[in-house]
Amino acid sequence: MQNHGVKRRGLLFCLIGPAGGGKTTFCERLLVEYHDSVRLSVSVTTRAPRPGEKEGVSYFFTNQEDFKARVARGEFFEWEEIHGNSYGTLQSVLDAALSSGVDLLLDVDIRGALNFKNRLPKDTIVVFLAPPSSEELLRRVVQRGGASSKEVRTRIETAKREYAKVIELAKSPACIDYFLVNEDKELTYQSVKNILLAERTRLMRLDEAAIQKICAISPDLEKELV
Ligand code: 5GP
Repeated sequence: MQNHGVKRRGLLFCLIGPAGGGKTTFCERLLVEYHDSVRLSVSVTTRAPRPGEKEGVSYFFTNQEDFKARVARGEFFEWEEIHGNSYGTLQSVLDAALSSGVDLLLDVDIRGALNFKNRLPKDTIVVFLAPPSSEELLRRVVQRGGASSKEVRTRIETAKREYAKVIELAKSPACIDYFLVNEDKELTYQSVKNILLAERTRLMRLDEAAIQKICAISPDLEKELV
């Protein structure tokens, strides 16, 4: 832990943006580099697993009936319908991370991120990752593989809606905090990391008692000064 071990609340670090923007890769890298202080929020989804995805690691996979029952029981902090499937973040996952000072990475859509920002503004950091152009966006969506032409169209439509939202919210305080153009993956990853590290030192999230201790000038030292 940096910052002389001063305790702090965990961050809800939302990486958002169109498919192919680098969210998943950056989450994976942060999880390796900060394995002791960063955790991935594993969402529940009704979508079918893709090749290579593991239960409890990529998502908790379930069916519509079970998802609805969980919604009714109030298990989700937030949930959204995306591309015909349901995705939700469990309240229990958030509570555990925030209180333990571990940063939680949230790979959610823009509506999900704004839900977090509206309800937990002090804890949430929203970083929008955009490919450098619409041609590059299309190339990355197609290159991802496994997507039918209908899915590609849907993802481009989603990106269009997300961009409109970014422009609409650009000047509102406390909505989307950072906008990064992901042209060079390495440089963009460094920027993501710098944002995380800077936000970790934000005074309002630091433990008050620890700050008071550091800021206290001992009476003995004051005596020495006269
Ligand atoms: P995919 O099916 O490609 O894994 O995810 C589709 C979209 O759902 C992505 O934009 C992803 O960020 C979003 N998503 C995943 N989990 C959640 C969640 O818990 N809440 C919300 N609002 N979006 C999510």
